[in-house]
Amino acid sequence: MTDIPTRLQAVRERIAAAARATNQPTDSISLLAVSKKKPAGDIRAALAAGQRAFGENYLQEALEKIEQLAGEPVEWHFIGRIQSNKTRDIAENFDWVQTVDRARVVRRLGQQRPTDRPPLNVLLQVNIDAEEQKAGALPAALPELARLVADTPGLRLRGLMAIPQVSDDPAVQAASARRLRQAFDALRASGFGIDTLSIGMSGDLEAAIAEGSTMVRIGTAIFGERV
Ligand SMILES: *Cc1c(COP(=O)(O)O)cnc(C)c1O
Repeated sequence: MTDIPTRLQAVRERIAAAARATNQPTDSISLLAVSKKKPAGDIRAALAAGQRAFGENYLQEALEKIEQLAGEPVEWHFIGRIQSNKTRDIAENFDWVQTVDRARVVRRLGQQRPTDRPPLNVLLQVNIDAEEQKAGALPAALPELARLVADTPGLRLRGLMAIPQVSDDPAVQAASARRLRQAFDALRASGFGIDTLSIGMSGDLEAAIAEGSTMVRIGTAIFGERV
């Protein structure tokens, strides 16, 4: 039996410990609860325990939960692969999208964001290990893509996101996180007012925070294994 409030508290304590270990204020690191493949009831349990930001990967599943939880104070993040012909659902229903990696998607999201909603918060997904099958923009493409997001009405550029290559070697994971941090710092140095670096999951949140993550995305450690 999963006890979501207890697991959530344990994750908060891991984040706080990782922040202390690297002399960062705990509240500089935010927690995204990844609720993919979990029912709306699990999200309610986490909401009751004070969690606000939830991440979803699959659009159809997400739209059902967004409807079921209408009126609840949820901040919805889309963290799945974006199909160009599905951008409207993202633009109309989410508060953040973390997986933007190409110009066509940027333009469509901007055009489709309802004008009566605040700008859609955007993270650019970076293919930080240049893996062949993986989504995400290569680091060299980031300045131009960042400029496009920053110049698009209806969108607000907030930072970068990555899903590093799977590795048993913590040093390999740390190196990926460090490269992402460098790309983030380079964009800031060139004038982009970005504040969010989304990296770190259930298995590697400590390493990610040590390398400068400001948002960890945690599924399994909060909601239990997915079937
Ligand atoms: C599933 C997923 C997570 C959460 O992974 P866990 O290992 O369950 O914590 C984080 N980020 C993305 C993009 C995901 O797809």
